[in-house]
Amino acid sequence: MWSRVYSKLSNTCGRRLNSTFRASEIVIDHTNNPKTMPVLDETLIFGKKTTDHLFWVDWDAKKGWHTPQIAPYQPLVLDPTSSCFHYGTECFEGMKAYKTAHDKVLLFRPEMNVRRLKKSAAALALPDFDGEEFLQCLRKFVDIERKWVPNKKGYSMYIRPTMIGTHQQLGVTKPAKAKLFIVNALVGPYFPTGFKPVALYCDEARVRAWPGGVGDKKVGGNYGPGIAYTDEITKLGYQQLLWLVNGNVTEVGTMNFFVLWKTKEGETELITAPLDSTILEGVTRDSILTLTKEWGEFKVSERTFSIHELVEAVDQGRVIEAFGAGTACIVCPVKKIHFKGKDYDIPMKLGNSGLLTKRLLDHILSIQYGEIHHPWSYQVDY
Ligand SMILES: *Cc1c(COP(=O)(O)O)cnc(C)c1O
Repeated sequence: MWSRVYSKLSNTCGRRLNSTFRASEIVIDHTNNPKTMPVLDETLIFGKKTTDHLFWVDWDAKKGWHTPQIAPYQPLVLDPTSSCFHYGTECFEGMKAYKTAHDKVLLFRPEMNVRRLKKSAAALALPDFDGEEFLQCLRKFVDIERKWVPNKKGYSMYIRPTMIGTHQQLGVTKPAKAKLFIVNALVGPYFPTGFKPVALYCDEARVRAWPGGVGDKKVGGNYGPGIAYTDEITKLGYQQLLWLVNGNVTEVGTMNFFVLWKTKEGETELITAPLDSTILEGVTRDSILTLTKEWGEFKVSERTFSIHELVEAVDQGRVIEAFGAGTACIVCPVKKIHFKGKDYDIPMKLGNSGLLTKRLLDHILSIQYGEIHHPWSYQVDY
C-alpha cells in the first residue's frame, strides 16, 4: 500500500523515469486484415511491400519510456511541429531476417545494429534505452511477422528500426518527446540476375561527411543531399559516388569501400578506410574484415589511402578488384572509377565481379541462411 502511494507520488514528481522499455510488457494487437504475400521474383521492388504490423514505443521527458506496442501497420499521426520534420532528429538502422531451409528465422549480428542505433540516437540528443530489451522487442516483433520472412534464398524481410524526435515546439532544443518504431518490408536479391557492377564518379567538390561531423552515424540528414548528387551523376552514366575527405577515399554511395591490390612492395592487400567520424561502421565491413583476417591469405588493412594512390595503382595494373559493402547487397562489384575527366577500369576476373567479391558474397549468404553454423547467426524462434 505504502509502496504504491510512494510510487504514485514519485511518478507525479517525475523522479521515477522509465530509463528503458521492456520486451515483457509489449502490448500486441494482431491484424484482422492480413496483406497478401507478393510473388517472389525480380519484379519485387526494394522495401516497397511492407508487412502486417508496426512496432513502436514512445518516450517523453516526464515519464521516460512508455509501453511498447505491436499493432496493425498504420500511418503515424504526428504534430506538424515535431522536431524530426524541421531539424532532422531522425536516425535509423537497416538489417534483415532470413529463413533457413529448416524454417528457422535468423538475424545477422543484430546486436551490432542495436549498438549503432543507440550511438546515432545519442548524436541527436534522442533518448537512450537498454540494448538487450530492444533486441528482445525486435525478436518478438520478427517472430510475429515470421510469415513475411520469405523461404527463398536471396529474399529476406528487411527491418527498419527508426527513431524520431516528436517534440512539438519550433525551438531548436533537445527533443522532449520521441518515438522509436520498426517497419518491415520484403526485399529480394540485390542482383537477381547476377552481379551488376557499378561505375563510380569521384568528385572532390561533393562531400558526404567531414571530420568532426556525424558521417559515422546513421542519421537521415546524411542521406538526402546524397540523393540529389547521385541523381546528377546517373545522367552521366555512373551509378554511385566515390566519396573523398581531403583527397582520401572513404565510402561509395551508402556503402563501405574495399580495394584488393598489390602494394608497391608487391604484397597483396585488402584495404578499407579506418573508422573515424567520416566512416559508417558497417556490419558488413566488420564481417568482411573479420573473415578475411581469419582466412589469412593476404594482408588486411584499415588505413587511409588517397584517390591518387588508387588511380596510380589502376594505371600500374596493381588493382585486382574493388567493391562496395553493405547489408542491402552484401558486396557490390566496381567496374570503373571516374576521376578528373578520366575513366579508370577496374579488373573483374569473373566478368561481372572479382574472385574475392564473389567468394565473400557466397560465404556471407551461407552464414545468413544458416547453411554454415556460425556465432553471427541469431535465432529469432522461441
Ligand atoms: C548503412 C551504411 C553502410 C553499411 O552498413 P551495414 O551495416 O554493412 O549495412 C555503409 N555506409 C553508409 C554510409 C551506410 O549508411
